[in-house]
This record gives sequence, C-alpha cells and structure tokens, in this order.
Amino acid sequence: MFFAGTNFIVKLIELDHIPAGLLERPASALHHDLDGPALIHLEGKNPQPLFVAVLQHGNEVTGWEAIRRLLKSHYEFDQLPRSLSILIGNTRAAKHRLRRLDDQLDYNRCWPGGNHDDSDTGKLFQQVTERMQSLAPIAAIDIHNNTGLNPHYAAINRIRPDFLRLASYFSSKVVYFTMPVGTLSLSFSRFCPSTTLECGQAGEVHGTDHSMGYLETCMHLEELPNTPMDAEDVHLFHMVATVRVHHEALFGFGNVPAEVAFRENLDVLNFQELPPGISLGDVNGGPAQPLLATNVDGQDVTGQYFRFDRQQIETVREIMPSMLTLDRRVIQQDCLCYLMERIHFEDHIEVTDHDPLPESMRRSDRPGEPPL
Ligand SMILES: [Zn+2]
Repeated sequence: MFFAGTNFIVKLIELDHIPAGLLERPASALHHDLDGPALIHLEGKNPQPLFVAVLQHGNEVTGWEAIRRLLKSHYEFDQLPRSLSILIGNTRAAKHRLRRLDDQLDYNRCWPGGNHDDSDTGKLFQQVTERMQSLAPIAAIDIHNNTGLNPHYAAINRIRPDFLRLASYFSSKVVYFTMPVGTLSLSFSRFCPSTTLECGQAGEVHGTDHSMGYLETCMHLEELPNTPMDAEDVHLFHMVATVRVHHEALFGFGNVPAEVAFRENLDVLNFQELPPGISLGDVNGGPAQPLLATNVDGQDVTGQYFRFDRQQIETVREIMPSMLTLDRRVIQQDCLCYLMERIHFEDHIEVTDHDPLPESMRRSDRPGEPPL
C-alpha cells in the first residue's frame, strides 16, 4: 500500500512495510530508496503504535542503526509486541553525512508550533503529526547524537509522571526544555508522552545498543504508568546559561602557556554536579572576565556562576555543565558549554493537562536551548 503525498515540494512517503533491502542500507545509502522523509507503519500485537523518529539530522545515525538492528534481529520472523511507526528523516543530508544541507531547514525546528509552520518541511511534518495523532501512540521517541564526551540522556518538554517515566527508562539524568520551539518532542508533547534521546556521538556501538534496548523496553510496555515518580529515580535538569570564552582570550588545555589554561580533561565534567569552588582551569592574564555566561534572554550572568580573581576559573554555586568540549573550532564558533541546574520536579508536576509550563517556572526560570 502506498499513500501518495499531496502537492508539496517535500512529499511524505507513507508505507506499511519495510522496502526490500532497506535494512541492509547504512544511513548514507537510504536515499537510493527514500528520497525524502518516510513514515513507515509496521503492525504489532498491540495495535497502539510506538512512534520513533530517526535521522532528523542526517549525520546522527544511531537511531537508524538501532532500528535496523532491532528489526533485523528476531523481528524479521517474530511479530512485533507493539505496532511501530517509524519516521526516517533527512535521507538527503544523510547521503552527505551532514546534519542538514545548505538549502534545507533544520528538520528538528519544523514541527507544528515552531517558526517554520509555513515551510514545505513544516507542512510535511504537520501531515506526519496529524497522522500520528490520529493513531494515538503510546509514546514518541526522537533519537539524536551529539558531539563531545557526554553521557546518554533523555530530554522532555513537560513535567508529568508519564513523561518522566518514559525518559527514566533511558537515563536517570533528564533534561527539561521548552526552547527551541519546533522540535518533534515538544510538538508531540501536546498529545502523547514524548522524549528526545541524546545517544552520545554518532557511530558508537554503545549508543546503538542502548537505544535498541530502550526501544525494546518501550515496545513491551503495556502502558506508561501515570503514578508519581520517586525523586530518587529521576534527576531533572534544565539549562540556565550558555558559556563562551572571551574572544580575545588565548586559551589552551592542560599545562600550556596560555592566558586561560583549561583542565586537560575538561569534558569529563559533563553532567557532573559540581559544588562551588571547583576549578575549570588557570587564569594567567588576558581579559579580566575570560568566560562569558549568558542566560536565555542574552543577559550577562557570569558573576552568578564563576569567579576569576584567584587566578582560577572557579564555580561559585552548584552547577552542572554539559557539552563541554575540547574542540577549539566548536568553542570559537559555538560555545564552551551549557550550564544546567536541577529542577525539583516534585514541586513542579503539572496539575492539569492544560498547563504545559508550571506557573512558578514561567515566572523566573525560563529554560535555555539545548542543542538537540
Ligand atoms: Zn540532532
């Protein structure tokens, strides 16, 4: 069965089977069969589907590797425990091993409610969303990779027991975000529990193993319990600031003659909750404020997190960095890291379905933008 897309430039391919040979293809070769996003529905014992999105970013191949290994294992012969709806995203960018092509929008900013609803990709994803909403999936899972030495974690967009539980099956460390808009998980969070998985760097077998095991777990769930979660079982964080190195500061890593000499293994601090007084490196001159931390409104909040007056970059409050990298190009073009703070979700659980962001958080703690 083949449902023809409508007259959009990016057409949705919708199938009820895996095309012959597709599971043999690495992400970079999928374009031979699928010239654009494809939504594939596979029937399982429980008809309520699990929705899984892979390759929204063409170079983040872990999701596709997990799906094809999962389906090539016993499910080539056995019935799936639950129906599976799979969105294979940016096959054109995957061909070139890129996040997206220059003439494409970032797919994970084009879902309903974002800033690109009128774009061809936005209209296409509107169709996917409506189709999936009509199938009332048990959950939506969007699989990504990132750079640097980061542990695997799940991100959610609503603080509700079912969302927390869905995320906690993947990792006890969970990130909450509501910006950027137009992400799949944020859009789907209006009608089903959803999560974005960050599975470390692309190409790591460990990431494929972990996400494959997670999908298997989710397919076997009878339901997602809505009972309150224990504060011990989930550690919820949100992003509060982006940290950049002052553009005039000469920096290096380890024991080097630089104005800012970061710790050699700086990236081992990712997702570690650091107490006040931890040093990220030595300061040997250069700008008085070698780092700049800005909040989501772009305000300079450096003083809330760091001090530099003792020839060190020292933390001044409990904080958890993420995406710390040793890659000079990333640091110069993007940022050094993001800072996250713990949310005591017990105090922030949504009371009703119509309150996507608790009032107390709307007021003061607007979360930042993780690089999803
Ligand atoms: Zn991504």
